[in-house]
Amino acid sequence: MVTVLSGGTGTPKLLSGADAVFDPAETTVVGNTGDDVELGGHLVCPDVDTVLFLLGGVLDRETWWGIDGDTAETHAQLRTLAERLGVEVGPRYLPEDRQTEGRRLARWRRFSGVGEFMHIGDRDRAVHILRTSLLDEGYSLTGVTRRLAAAFGLTVEVLPMSDDPVATVVHTADGPMHFQAFWVAHDGEPAVDRVEFRGSDDAEATEAVLAALSEPVVVGPSNPVTSIGPMLALDGVEAALADTPVVAVSPFVEDRVFSGPADDLLVAAGYEPSTAGVAEAFPFADAFVLDEADGTVLDRPVVRTDTAMDDPADAERVARAVSEAMELVR
Ligand code: GDP
Repeated sequence: MVTVLSGGTGTPKLLSGADAVFDPAETTVVGNTGDDVELGGHLVCPDVDTVLFLLGGVLDRETWWGIDGDTAETHAQLRTLAERLGVEVGPRYLPEDRQTEGRRLARWRRFSGVGEFMHIGDRDRAVHILRTSLLDEGYSLTGVTRRLAAAFGLTVEVLPMSDDPVATVVHTADGPMHFQAFWVAHDGEPAVDRVEFRGSDDAEATEAVLAALSEPVVVGPSNPVTSIGPMLALDGVEAALADTPVVAVSPFVEDRVFSGPADDLLVAAGYEPSTAGVAEAFPFADAFVLDEADGTVLDRPVVRTDTAMDDPADAERVARAVSEAMELVR
């Protein structure tokens, strides 16, 4: 058995070829939910959905989100109608008092659907409607995710990190904003002071997640702050990771990220924006997989390979390096 901690890009890339190395029937993926938002009343789980769509064979691999070949008629119409209303399109938080009333899971990340600041395709939206409706019927997010995984034909088990709300709020020079508003609407440009995982003090990792963390764990090359950080903020997760063999794949080659804002966010979290900083942020990692061009000297075993993943063959190569590193520490 192996458990993989995942955000929405780097780790899904690894998963795209990991089945050749790790038996899907013995693999659990724990998805970050700090990036989730409620948009126009529907719960969107970007990281979990990328894993569902990828392993279900329908992911748009150009963007690493959304469904390949999806139309976006509803999205376009929402934007057209907003223009007719004379409304400026952008993230429109619901009022402060609405942030904590209603569906508990959506706390501190409720956005109006007016102008729809995130691009949601039509078939993609059907998933959000189904998810939200199953939640309203009484399923937990874990239960809903299991049903969606079955609907997409997955063999791998996919678990949300928690059934409780945790909202990744980025405090910037332009004020606090949810990570999706920061990344999608503001292009990650405002200077970041700090990152808050709102709700994490009262949120729990599910029993299914804690059980999965008793198996060997792979921390994929995801953003250490906004994809892995929300999981580490849950009680018991770091302790569980300290007690089990953990291999982490760096999302950096020395101080260069492959994509996304991991560098700025690591700095805001008080770490060096590099593989060395990731190793410091992951004291529980027993071994690392680094790129062959990454000369970082670490105090833990390292396996090197070309960690750039453009296709499933690349992912398989990195997964083999992960397996090799796991053999060194288990
Ligand atoms: P998000 O949820 O979309 O932010 O995605 P993740 O957190 O899962 O992944 C973002 C991280 O993936 C970034 O820090 C990138 O550096 C890393 N990444 C993207 N592509 C690759 C790749 O091909 N190889 C490796 N090693 N890391 C990658």
